Amino acid sequence: MCSIIDKETRDSMELILIKYGELTTKKDNRQFFINTLEKNIKMLLKDEKIIITKDRVRMYIECEDAKKIAKKLKKVFGIFRIVICYKVNNNIEDVLKKSLEIMDKSKKTFKVETNRADKSFPISSMEYSRRLGSLILKNTNFKVDVHNPDITLNVEIRNNGTYIYTDLIKGLGGYPVGIQGKGLLMLSGGIDSPVAGYLTLKRGVNVECLYFESPPHTSEEAKTKVLKLAKILNEYSGHLKVHVVPFTKMQEAIYKNCPDIYMITIMRRMMYRIAHIYAEKIGAKILINGESIGQVASQTLSSMSVINNVTNMPVIRPVACLDKLEIIDIAKQIGTYETSILPYEDCCTIFVPKHPVINPNLEKAINYENNFDYKTILEDTINNIEVITNFEEKFNDLL
Ligand code: ATP
Ligand code: MG
Repeated sequence: MCSIIDKETRDSMELILIKYGELTTKKDNRQFFINTLEKNIKMLLKDEKIIITKDRVRMYIECEDAKKIAKKLKKVFGIFRIVICYKVNNNIEDVLKKSLEIMDKSKKTFKVETNRADKSFPISSMEYSRRLGSLILKNTNFKVDVHNPDITLNVEIRNNGTYIYTDLIKGLGGYPVGIQGKGLLMLSGGIDSPVAGYLTLKRGVNVECLYFESPPHTSEEAKTKVLKLAKILNEYSGHLKVHVVPFTKMQEAIYKNCPDIYMITIMRRMMYRIAHIYAEKIGAKILINGESIGQVASQTLSSMSVINNVTNMPVIRPVACLDKLEIIDIAKQIGTYETSILPYEDCCTIFVPKHPVINPNLEKAINYENNFDYKTILEDTINNIEVITNFEEKFNDLL
C-alpha cells in the first residue's frame, strides 16, 4: 500500500489515531492482538489509500478522507477510541496555529491536556499546557475552564512531531475478530441470534454461521432474510460465512416418528448434533446461539439440559440472561432489528405442537429418537451442507 503513494499525496493525507483499549491489559498477547487488528483494518480498508504505522499503544492511519475512514472504523472490534488528529512539528508556534484552526469557535471554554511521550522534551507537560493555554487566551476570546471545558485540546508531544486533537470518537471496544479462533453461530432469522453473534464477535471470536432450512416448508425469502442478517453481522467481522443445512428430511422424520409434545425437544437435539459435528469439521471450538432462559418451551432450564445433553462442546449463549427488550435494544443498535422482524417462518416455527413439553425427560427423548434411523439422516444432512462464501457478491445477486 505504502509503495504506491507518492510523497505529494502523503503530505496532503489526513491522520487518524487509534487507541486500543482493552488490548493493552493483555500483556503477553499484545503484539498478536495489535497485528490482528491491523490485518482486520487493512481488509476493511482494502480499497482505500492508507498507510498504517503502529506502536504498542496506538496505531496511526494516514488516509485521504479521515471522516469517511473514521466512520468505517466505528464497526471494528478492538478499537477503544478513534481520533481524527493533526500532526505538526514540535515548535509551539506551529502547535498554536493548528490548535486555533481546529478549535470550534462556537464554543466558549477550553483546557489544554498535554502528554509528553518524548521525555527529552525540555519542559514538563503541565508547563507546556500552561504556555500553550496562555497563547490561546491571548489570541482568542476563549476562556479557560479546567473542570468542565467545552473543548479539551489534547496535545501529544512525540519525537517525530506533535499530535493535536479535540474530539475522541468512541470505538466498539472488545477484541479484534480472529484472536480467539473460530465459533459456529446457529443463526436464525429471529432477533436473538444475530445479537448473540455480535456479542461473540466482540470477544474476538471468528464467527461462522449455521442456518437450518426446511424447504418447501420454509421459503426462499426466509433464507434471504438470514443471509441479509449475516451480511449486516459481517460488517463487524469481514470473515463471515454461512453454512446452510438442508433440514427437511430430518424434520419430516421427527414429525412422522415422534410424539407431538417432544417434537421441538428432539428437533433441537438434532440441530445441536449437526452443529457439533459440523463445527468439528470446520475447526470451530464452540457453538453459539441466541437462547434466552425461559423465553420459550425449549429454553426452560429442564429443556436446555435435555437438549444440551447431545454435545460436550461449549455452548455460548450471550443473551441467555438478557430480557427481550434488552436484546431488542442491542439489535437496533447494531442494525439487525428491522431485518429480524420481517415476517418469514423459521424451521423452528413449522410443525410446532400446541403444547410442547417444558419439562422433558431425557430417557423418553432418547427412546423416541430411536423410533427412526436418525443417524443416517444426520450423516446425509451434514454431507449436503451448502457453504456460502464470497458474501458481498452473493448478496448482490440475492438481495
Ligand atoms: P426470536 O428472536 O424470535 O426468539 P430466535 O432466533 O431466538 O428468534 P428461537 O426459537 O428462540 O428463535 O431459537 C433459539 C435459538 O436457536 C436461536 O437464537 C438460534 O440460535 C437457534 N435457531 C433457531 N432456529 C434456527 C435455524 N433455523 N437455524 C439456525 N439456528 C436456529
Ligand atoms: Mg429466541
